[in-house]
Amino acid sequence: MSSRAKIRLFVEHPLGAGQTVPLSREQAHYLFGVMRLGVGAEVALFNGTDGEWTAEVAEAGKRGGSLACRVLAAPQMSPPDLWLIFAPIKKARTDFIVEKAAEMGAARIMPVQTDFTNSERIRQDRLQAHAVEAAEQCGGTYVPPVDDLQKLDRLLADWPEDRQLIFCDESLVGARAALDAAPAGDKWAILIGPEGGFSDAERARLTAHPATTAISLGPRILRADTAAVAALTLFQSTRGDW
Ligand code: SAH
Repeated sequence: MSSRAKIRLFVEHPLGAGQTVPLSREQAHYLFGVMRLGVGAEVALFNGTDGEWTAEVAEAGKRGGSLACRVLAAPQMSPPDLWLIFAPIKKARTDFIVEKAAEMGAARIMPVQTDFTNSERIRQDRLQAHAVEAAEQCGGTYVPPVDDLQKLDRLLADWPEDRQLIFCDESLVGARAALDAAPAGDKWAILIGPEGGFSDAERARLTAHPATTAISLGPRILRADTAAVAALTLFQSTRGDW
């Protein structure tokens, strides 16, 4: 028998033996209205820092309820210190990128506005909710924060000295420019452009930046959402936590 409960829920509350965790209206609706759980049922909880806990329904109501934390079911597992920086594209594809980045173990998700960015606005709260859902379903105990949209220029101007920037450059399609060329390090970022790619000015600036390693993602031009997953796969399998 598995000691891990099936329903996994992210909560913004400390977790530990004996903790009582109050539920929001939405969480109560989901557990008791949709999933039909009753008092005594088991739920897995995680909060991004304390690991996964098995908890029991203590009170079940229409608009609220509470869970009682019992035992630690899995230790906290945080991903490598990897930022995914990407230019938002159409809504459904942006949602996809955020969901996949959370599943693939990005530590932080950062939408940026570039010269050819398709969308001027994002719904940070909605994107964050997608990251939470992805963590709930993939068994992760960590939820990457999703930042507000910021300008790529600004981000580069304030770039931290100790962080490597993996620049996925579509102009290198088919070229020999692999991640192996990047120096060793423990703080990373992957940068993916929008449908229109990067402007010449951006490419020049990025290439000249001391933190940058420009890489190719193979012989075909990938859509931005595919490129994000491909780059995360490449990173995690060579420098990351696989
Ligand atoms: N319109 C552009 C392609 C943009 S693809 C053109 O035709 O050139 C969207 C983003 O995905 C790019 O900005 C880049 O970051 C990434 N990307 C896609 N294919 C890539 C490849 N083969 N190598 C490196 N990056 C790639």
